[in-house]
Amino acid sequence: MENHPTWIKALLMVALVLSLALPTKTQAQKEDLPRVTAMAKFDLKAHRVIGKVTILVPASKKVRIVADSLVRIKGPKGKEGHFGPYAKPKRVTFKFSATFQNPATGSYIGPEGIVLPSSWFPQPEGLALYRLTATLPSRLTVVSSMDRVFQKKEGAKTTYTFYFPHPCKTIPLIAAPYHLSMAQAQGITLAVYLLEKDEDLAQRYLLAMAQYVKEYNDLVGPYPYRRLAVVANPIMETGYAFPTFTLLGRHVIRLPFILHTSLPHEILHNWFGNGVYVKGSNWCEGLVSYLADQRMAEKKGEGWRYRHRTLVNYQAYVTPDKDLPLIQFQGKYDPASQAIGYGKGAMVFHMLRKKLGDETFSQAIRELYKNYLFKEAGWQEIGTLMEETSGQDLSSFFQAWLYKRGVPWLQVRVRTAKAEKKGNYLVYITMEERGPQFPLQVPVIIETAKGKKKVTLDMEKKQVKAKAEVEGKPQRLLIDPDYDVMRRLTLPEYPPLVARVLGSGGFMVGGNSQVYTPLKAFLRQKGYREVDSSLIPLENTSQNIIYLGELPTNSPYLFHRPPKGASLYMEVQENPYHQEATVTWITSASLRETRRFLPKLPHLGAYQTLATSQGRLSTMEKPHFLRGIRIAIQDQAVGVNLKSLLSLAQVARAVSPSRVIFLGEEHPEYGHHLAQLDIIRWLVEHGHQVAIGMEMFQKPFQKVIDQYLEGKLDLAQFLKETEYFSRWGFNYKLYKPIVDFAKEHKLPIVALNISREITQKVAKEGLKALTPEEKKEIPQHLDFSNESYRQYLKRVYEAHGNSQKDIKDFEAFYQSQILWDEGMAQSIVDYLSRHPDRQMVVIVGKGHVAYGYGVPSRVERRGIQPCSIVILGNDQELDPNMGDYLVVPPSSEPPFSAKLGVIIKEDKDGLLIKMVLPHTPAQRGGLRKGDLIIRADRQRVKKVEDLRAILYQKNPGDTVKITIKRGKRTKTLTIGPFRTKEEKQKPYHHPKAETESKKNP
Ligand SMILES: [Zn+2]
Repeated sequence: MENHPTWIKALLMVALVLSLALPTKTQAQKEDLPRVTAMAKFDLKAHRVIGKVTILVPASKKVRIVADSLVRIKGPKGKEGHFGPYAKPKRVTFKFSATFQNPATGSYIGPEGIVLPSSWFPQPEGLALYRLTATLPSRLTVVSSMDRVFQKKEGAKTTYTFYFPHPCKTIPLIAAPYHLSMAQAQGITLAVYLLEKDEDLAQRYLLAMAQYVKEYNDLVGPYPYRRLAVVANPIMETGYAFPTFTLLGRHVIRLPFILHTSLPHEILHNWFGNGVYVKGSNWCEGLVSYLADQRMAEKKGEGWRYRHRTLVNYQAYVTPDKDLPLIQFQGKYDPASQAIGYGKGAMVFHMLRKKLGDETFSQAIRELYKNYLFKEAGWQEIGTLMEETSGQDLSSFFQAWLYKRGVPWLQVRVRTAKAEKKGNYLVYITMEERGPQFPLQVPVIIETAKGKKKVTLDMEKKQVKAKAEVEGKPQRLLIDPDYDVMRRLTLPEYPPLVARVLGSGGFMVGGNSQVYTPLKAFLRQKGYREVDSSLIPLENTSQNIIYLGELPTNSPYLFHRPPKGASLYMEVQENPYHQEATVTWITSASLRETRRFLPKLPHLGAYQTLATSQGRLSTMEKPHFLRGIRIAIQDQAVGVNLKSLLSLAQVARAVSPSRVIFLGEEHPEYGHHLAQLDIIRWLVEHGHQVAIGMEMFQKPFQKVIDQYLEGKLDLAQFLKETEYFSRWGFNYKLYKPIVDFAKEHKLPIVALNISREITQKVAKEGLKALTPEEKKEIPQHLDFSNESYRQYLKRVYEAHGNSQKDIKDFEAFYQSQILWDEGMAQSIVDYLSRHPDRQMVVIVGKGHVAYGYGVPSRVERRGIQPCSIVILGNDQELDPNMGDYLVVPPSSEPPFSAKLGVIIKEDKDGLLIKMVLPHTPAQRGGLRKGDLIIRADRQRVKKVEDLRAILYQKNPGDTVKITIKRGKRTKTLTIGPFRTKEEKQKPYHHPKAETESKKNP
């Protein structure tokens, strides 16, 4: 069986027919093998079999006789024992009887049918030749490993003699009232044994079987037997592979995906496992997983995804206490052993194929089959064949991969230098393996401004250095993006998913209702401990946490809301403080739903989000991850420990659990806005329910914003009706990407600021000047007590403020500033209280958030926390108290905004030009002081906004038609073309400065 992606394969039980027998010496000739003749009679009602076995022990061979513990044997030495060596071949005879009435033992005899997979009568250990004769009621059809079968009916009973002239390790017997469908293809007989009549299903199987036999004939060599069957198990939900047939559970057999998952895997076992037998450690699950399951994915272009999942499973399940070297793998008994024997085993064959090349590898596989068919082979034989076929010395490869535990953990350093040839660069790569050293061939792609270059690093020792010359400036190393190497995944490649939750224990919180009782029992087995506290702070634990039931009120903002109609919901996220740990939420509506979900859960390891409805899985989402190890190549790093530098995504992740995330900007810096957008985008992509709070909009205009986001207004109307240009005034293009993103992703934008009229009045005249009406619009409680903030604002005031005629004195300035902060804090708190499922990203000037003084402390005072502060700035602001993170965005060209170069005043009939600035489009186009602008591009302009909304649409090179009244004449002048160079606008962000800038369109 395979590590199956979907739950239903839960039902498939572990099959270890292949490794039931212990290894013996390779037996080369049929003459050297014991010959077994067995006769069995069945009493179905009594669950009983009785019979006689004769074993011909070859001359000078020693044979050990074994049987299932339920089998009673009467023979020369009692139950079991060794026979031989004898000088001549010798016959030994046993009588046996057994009762199989408990399906849990894996064997069963009853009126519904018979399932006897192995060792149900005394038989020699290792390979032997069998002839089985069985007598049963005629209503049952019997299947065994066979090339042909002879039947003889006597009364109500039929005697079957199975003809199977090939060495094998045991002989099974299955019987039930079957509906049999048959076909001939590829020179063999195909058969399907179903418990219900379903000719369509039988035909689908026959078709698929013919196709796989052809495929593996071509790939490995001709099918070894004359017959191939798929048989429904009448008793148990199994997935066993026997020579010449596959036994699938009666429910499993009907699942459509089995035809391209389990079926090819089990069929290929006829070549490896039941054709070439396993000697010693079990290599065949790795090879069959690789040639069947991996290859199916590869043919669809998804080989990398299959291999990535293999690496994920290994990392999730193979904890150090469960790790085994591959050489010790016998069969799977839990997800860890499966991740080793099937997963790591398959990857060893993949790495061999990459090392030897496709042709040599497949030639070696064909040789393995040809040379060892009906014989036993071990890793030793495989290694020798691979070496002989390729002419390479593979001893260190096999030595490491078979005998060492664990997987390599790659560490990479890179530096660059200019090469002699102009435009070329030298890239120096140092790659190191942490932990045990494994021979590896690691593909590395160097991405440059001009393209890509692929190199392969041959890791024959712990540290390897490589140098490559590339064209164009190197930007990034992409290491092993196709998962060609068995290795430890880096955190960005190792997304939060169920396997990680089940692979290692941790804490579970909540779930006091009995709805969760079976789930808690299950989780306890997986190593989860219940903790009383309603919440373990995520910062303080690097262990997994599972919240059961209601989320604690102060739990982190990590989870989505369950979809409508879901009865059970499970979501896995990463602990943002400890990425190696997961945080999971499981909530269920009923005990019944929990019970129905639980058996499926172990088979849903590849998913991040699951929901059920009426016991059926209604949502199954896989996590997003980045392919390959990615290493950005930095220009240079000055004075900072690069190991401590975080990417913007890491910053986003770190602040992501906060209820409020302040992104303090310098308004005119376009790079700041792009970084803000990147953080918002990260949050949205990681499932956060984000609202965007913006200082740039004032509360009375919330409705207009909502209408614009709903698509009811166009951009020009939006800008006009929010009075954006007169109330905020900075180039709207700075904020446009954020607003557009919000619109596209249906994120609410919350206007945070109180009306400019009020803050301006306070700045001019102080708080006491407000009317009772105006006082209603401001928060009840204003906190003036922060002395440090007062001092901080005093410095700001003295630097800019006291020259402003709009401000009365420092006291009034201070009051207006506090009012502004308190107003925004109140807006944030009001919104979040009404929307408990949201978290807010606040776009605000950094003066309002630096040191937490302005808005953040006032939000926390109102009971909303935690808050995170991200300061956008430059490397001169390395003050640890200023915020939680400093983000230094690359400088970006500000977006273009067209300007006339005039100072204007709104007048009764238009805009009166008070001054024309020199060397501007206005001057060049002939505008003069005293002109009254009445139209722009033929549209009537009355307010500054009207003109700016028109200019806003202009690109470099455009012109605008300005219609003016000059004295009694009306005149239209063409102004422009506008040039990028004249774009220079650095208004200061306090209110008085805004009024200045807005008059300079
Ligand atoms: Zn298998």
